[in-house]
Amino acid sequence: MKAHDAMYIGGQWRPAAAADTIAVVNPADERIIAEVPAGTAPDVDAAVGAAREALPGWAATPPAARAAFLGALHDAMARRGEEIARTVVAELGAPARFARQVQTRAPIAALAAYAELAAAHPFEERIANSTVLHEPVGVVAAITPWNYPVSMIVGKVAPALAAGCTLVLKPAEDTPLSAQLFGECAQAAGLPPGVVNVVTGHGRVAGEALARHEGVDHVSFTGSTSVGRHIGALAGGAVKSVSLELGGKSANVILPGADLGRAVAAGVGHVMANSGQTCYAWTRMLVHAAHYEEAVELARRELGAYRVGDPAADGTRVGPVVSARQRDRVRGYIARGVEEGARLVAGGTEPPRPTGYFVAPTLFADVTTDMTIAQEEIFGPVLSVLRYEDEEDAVRIANDTVYGLHGGVWASTEKEAVAFARRMDTGRVDINGGAFNTLAPFGGWKQSGVGREMGTYGLRAYLQTKSLQL
Ligand code: NAD
Repeated sequence: MKAHDAMYIGGQWRPAAAADTIAVVNPADERIIAEVPAGTAPDVDAAVGAAREALPGWAATPPAARAAFLGALHDAMARRGEEIARTVVAELGAPARFARQVQTRAPIAALAAYAELAAAHPFEERIANSTVLHEPVGVVAAITPWNYPVSMIVGKVAPALAAGCTLVLKPAEDTPLSAQLFGECAQAAGLPPGVVNVVTGHGRVAGEALARHEGVDHVSFTGSTSVGRHIGALAGGAVKSVSLELGGKSANVILPGADLGRAVAAGVGHVMANSGQTCYAWTRMLVHAAHYEEAVELARRELGAYRVGDPAADGTRVGPVVSARQRDRVRGYIARGVEEGARLVAGGTEPPRPTGYFVAPTLFADVTTDMTIAQEEIFGPVLSVLRYEDEEDAVRIANDTVYGLHGGVWASTEKEAVAFARRMDTGRVDINGGAFNTLAPFGGWKQSGVGREMGTYGLRAYLQTKSLQL
């Protein structure tokens, strides 16, 4: 696959300071498809320098003109949509249809939404005798994970640009090719040099140098809670603002009276999509004791429709997980579930294909909240079904993890589901299958994170206020 042996810094593709590279592996066949430079501190330094130099000009660009640039970026990406989707299939292993729709079209559409928001957002407000200006926070470090590579990039870059910030993007080492394509699109869109910079590299080297850099004003991180905790501490120590979008262990609560078939099918789909590598996946399905066995059976049957295979082939619904490390981690959790006494209904640790980092779609029943698989984020195609006795019990179980990113509630009426959702300690809840909304705030409670992304709330993360008393 085509890759740059350079970093996108100051509007140009420049050779990296050191010669080391990162091999990009296709998780479906374990073959190396490209090499990208492993950036080091001097590359980060150059990129932050370019972003700082570009900041005054970009911050002073009127919002409508910034919106026009975002529109041009949207068009540049839309023109290369198929190539972006194919790249995500190759580097992540997402099934082609999913890669086209969710991994590509959705973030491109989000860019268009941010272009509109940039043009319409009130960057000034009046409070009594004060005019409050909403000004860009400055140079942003955007550090992203591999699971939704393009969405994660757009989810940070678009609001940062709309706000008038410049930035350095450090994408995940497993999926740098789509990030390089993004850099090419930024170049094609005519964004002024230094407004967007892309440095590929290892988290502990390039990511760390970026998060620590004194020329960075705000760190926006999406990834694991363990790394997020470290980045939060670094930012706190330097008195920098930080946004953290971290892990999840979301509950899908099916109340008695809900349409069980629909709720179970949606719940299975939520976890199997992207091979379970979704931070907000409903990995815990909570079902009332009276309907429990019926739900487990429905889930088992539904799982049968999730065909595992080559992600590039039509009809594949579950591709590999991203890496050998991730595969081993997920299989380890499956083994732990069995050891701790959960009932393995489908799947297991046996690889469903001889080559590639595949994990069988797995269903566990009789899972209790004290089990590791009910508490820790597995990040693979593994669904746990938990039993509850009454509503109080369901609330207790739903809230009984360190996470609070998302959730689902199914009931016979919207009113009943909303009443339950109000008792959940989480940042988002879908009511009876309510559709994903990219304009509503997205972010976690508890150890799922700090701050919000998407829509106006996402934009605010990149703004700071200045009050003028008149
Ligand atoms: P990760 O934390 O290992 O890596 C995320 C990014 O941080 C990568 O770019 C990595 O290179 C970088 N990084 C690693 N160590 C670093 C360090 N010391 N300093 C600076 N940067 C460093 O996470 P991952 O495995 O890539 O992604 C999976 C995790 O992301 C899951 O836990 C998932 O739940 C979470 N996630 C959360 C959201 C959300 O919105 N809440 C969205 C997607 C993924």
